[in-house]
This record gives sequence, structure tokens and C-alpha cells, in this order.
Amino acid sequence: MSTVSYSFDASFDVDVPLLIVGAGAAGLCAALAAKEAGIAPLVIERDTVPGGSTALSAGLIPAAATRFQRAKGIVDSPQLFAADIQRKAKGEADAAVVDAVAHGAGVLVEWLADRYGLPFEVVDNFNYPGHSAMRMHGLPTRTGLELINRLRHAAETSDIAIISERIADGLLAERDGRIRGVEILRGDGGRERVGCAALILACNGFGGNRDLVRRFIPEMSGALYFGHPGNRGDAVMWGEALGAKLSYLGAYQGHGSVATPHNILITWAAIMQGGIQVNCDGLRFCDESQGYSEQAAEVLCQPGQIAWSVFDARIAVVARQFEDFRDAEQAGAILTGRTIADLAGVMRVPAATFASEWTEVESLKAKSGQDRYGRQFAPGQLCTAPFHAVKVTGALFHTQGGLAVDGVGRVKRKDGTLLPNLFAAGGAAAGVSGSSAAGYLSGNGLLTATVLGRLAGQAAARLCLERTSSDLS
Ligand SMILES: Cc1cc2nc3c(=O)[nH]c(=O)nc-3n(C[C@H](O)[C@H](O)[C@H](O)COP(=O)(O)OP(=O)(O)OC[C@H]3O[C@@H](n4cnc5c(N)ncnc54)[C@H](O)[C@@H]3O)c2cc1C
Repeated sequence: MSTVSYSFDASFDVDVPLLIVGAGAAGLCAALAAKEAGIAPLVIERDTVPGGSTALSAGLIPAAATRFQRAKGIVDSPQLFAADIQRKAKGEADAAVVDAVAHGAGVLVEWLADRYGLPFEVVDNFNYPGHSAMRMHGLPTRTGLELINRLRHAAETSDIAIISERIADGLLAERDGRIRGVEILRGDGGRERVGCAALILACNGFGGNRDLVRRFIPEMSGALYFGHPGNRGDAVMWGEALGAKLSYLGAYQGHGSVATPHNILITWAAIMQGGIQVNCDGLRFCDESQGYSEQAAEVLCQPGQIAWSVFDARIAVVARQFEDFRDAEQAGAILTGRTIADLAGVMRVPAATFASEWTEVESLKAKSGQDRYGRQFAPGQLCTAPFHAVKVTGALFHTQGGLAVDGVGRVKRKDGTLLPNLFAAGGAAAGVSGSSAAGYLSGNGLLTATVLGRLAGQAAARLCLERTSSDLS
């Protein structure tokens, strides 16, 4: 049970300047930045091998005005990126954090590429909803597993200590909220206490804690959780106990296209390139191009909590750049029909209804029309045989609410003042998606994990160095 203790014997098994809880993207970016700034951090991780939700993701980081974009002639700017984030979040996201991540993302991607050799490239054969420019940066496999493995390798070659099978089980704090250390549960059942001058919470949100999901996001309480099960909301629970400000707890990243029963993510490229979703009655039910996050709840409202994503062979070629999609094909999740009538047969949906929906969409594409839900189509999205369909459900990917932070990840109290030495990044911190699933702009997850992680690592290192010099004087 995660707690905060204010009354404790102040002796620690070990003292470190900077302790980081969680070795996902946020924790490892924070650790790399702190080490560069001259502080040796200790990273603790509950799993045997660091992975987190980062390993489950597609590993795509949105960033503006990068050299990768310039090389492909893509015009973009941090200002445009910030405006896109706020437009999707309906202006609800914290302006200082949005500004920090929109400006810091380009620097972050180039830093990881140039200093640590991560071979980023910008995805330029389709765009995600809400982004005014192609700015998703991914690694060759387009997997988060590759991202986390490369970050871990960078940390190891930088001599950063990552201790696995260690669960942060409680914080030890002064009454003013100054963190003195962390109570740790070891894999062998033993306990130890680590003292620290600064603490970064990089242990993601509460998607893996059913009680907290039921409390804060009731609409997803029965949904498949597709993120890392070890993300049990410790940061939120400690923050609540410390009197920290918690923001946007109802916000989350959902996804309306997880192949079922295979549980494999089907890239939203399948929709953005001209695919549609129908329910098991063969009927469309909304504007799919709004975004995959809000689509989770839409799909879960359909009969049987499922939908069919339907597209063609041209779109499958684009989707195949994602390993997940190739896995889905291998698993037999992607059905094929030579005609729409054939496809209706293998999907077992009413053929006439489905054909009428499909024909209407294709004719709208031909004349750049808009459908009854407001979705705008274009001729470049026209589909030709053979056709494909995959049965999908809606899932909760990760929570976007968390500890309110400033532009470098320092945690705020309820009155807006800063806790003395506590930082949060990634899913542990409140995101930049405002208060709902619909505010999630693709990439917001890794954006705040990597960029805020790096900024928090730098700021926490500065704090540790200031403390060391004041101790010496
Ligand atoms: C299927 C899927 C696809 C996604 N695709 C994308 C994408 O393409 N782009 C994007 O931007 N976002 C994506 N996301 C979201 C993204 O994965 C997360 O926002 C991001 O990984 C969060 O990083 P993090 O470092 O905060 O958390 P994590 O990567 O989850 O790391 C947190 C770590 O903390 C550890 N931990 C937790 N509690 C404790 C504790 N008490 N003590 C010790 N260790 C602890 C966990 O074991 C974990 O390793 C996706 C998510 C999913 C599930």
C-alpha cells in the first residue's frame, strides 16, 4: 500500500542525490539528462527488465521543426505544434507545460539522435488527426520496445544505475512536503530505505489500478486496459497524501482500434488513409477522423462493444510499416474480401446495409464531400479491391491526469506553490490533453514522458548541485 510517512527514523540504507521511480521513457530521459548535468541518479524499477507502457507503445514522438522534418521539406514550428495541442485540448491544457513540451520536443528528438544514436525518422506517409504537419518521429520498427531498449542501452553506457525488482512503496517526507527518501520493497520481499535530495516520479498513471479508474474515469472502468499493469497510480496516491494539486484526472488516452480477440493494436493509419468503422449491424456510427482516443468510448457503446475497421490493400501497405499490424496479419486478425459483398460475408454483417454505407463513403470521397457526422473525405482516400476488415474493441491505453507540474516538472501544491524537491514527468504528471479523452492529441503520451522527463532531470540535477554547494559553504 503506497503511503507517505511524516514520522520516521531519519537513517537510510543508502543516500543518493537524485532518485527516480520508474524506468520507462520518462525515467530514462530524466536519468540521462541528470547524468549529463553532473548528478549520478539512481533509477528504481519494479519489473525485472524496464519496459513500462513505453514498450507497449508505437514509440512515436511528435516534435516540431526538427532536422528530420527539414530534410523532407516539412514546414513546422513549436508555435504551430502548441496551437495544435491546445486546439485538441479545447484550450484546457496548462499553457506553461504546453509551451515547454512544444518547444522542447524538437531538441529532445535531436538530442536522443545525436548524442545517443537513436535513429529517428519522421513518418511522412500519413498524418495523425489534429497535427497540422507531419511530425511523428519513430524508430525503424515503429515500436516502443525499440525505443525503451535503446534508451536503456544509452543509460547503461552512461553508467546510470538502474536497479530492477524494486517497488517504491512509500515516501518519507517532512511536514512541508520535502521528500527525505523512499521506502522500497525488494523482489526478495525485503525492505530498504533510500534517502534522496530530489525525487522524480516517473511511474506513470493509474491505468493499472481498477479502483482508481472506477473513481476517476467511470466510462472506462469495464474496458480492456492495454497499458502496463504495474502502473498502479502510486504518484497520484502520494500526491493526494502530500496535498499536491491533481489535475485532469478524468482524462485518458483511449484507442478505438485494438484487434479482438487478438489484442493487437491496429494503427489509426488504417482510418486516416480512408478506412471507416462499422458496427456489427454494418452501420457507421461517428466521425472516425476525430481521433483514436475518443473513439474508444464510441466503439464500446456499440453492440457487443466491438466494431469493424474496414480499409483496402493500398491502406494495408501503409499500415504494414508497423510491426503490430504485421503481427495482426500473421495472427489472422485481418480478413479479406474480393468485393464488399464478400467482405460482408466473412465479417458476418448485414450485406445490404454495409454495402450502402461503403458506397456512400466512396462517393463522398470522389467529390470531396462531408458525411452526416461531419467527416471530410478526399479523392486520395478512394479504396479499391481487395478489401480488408478487422474486428476491434475500445481500450484504455493510459491515464492523462496526474500531479500538476510547472514547465520543468516541479510538482505544485493545491495553492499553486511548489513542493520543495519533488518532480513528476510522463504519466505521473498531469498531461496536456485537458479534461477528457477527446483532448488527447496523438503522441501526447510520449511527448510529456520524454520532454518533461528530460527537463525534470535537468532541473532536479540543478537542485541537487545547489544543495551540495550550500552544504559545502
Ligand atoms: C499500446 C499503446 C500504444 C501507445 N502508443 C503511443 C505512441 O505511439 N506515442 C505516444 O506518445 N504515446 C503512446 N502511448 C502512451 C505512452 O506509452 C505513454 O504515455 C508513455 O510510455 C508513458 O511513459 P512513462 O515513462 O510515463 O511510463 P511507463 O513507460 O509506463 O514507465 C513507468 C515505469 O514505472 C514503473 N513503476 C510503476 N510504479 C512503480 C513503483 N511504485 N516502483 C517502481 N517502479 C514503478 C513501471 O513498471 C514502468 O516501467 C501508447 C500506450 C499504449 C499502452
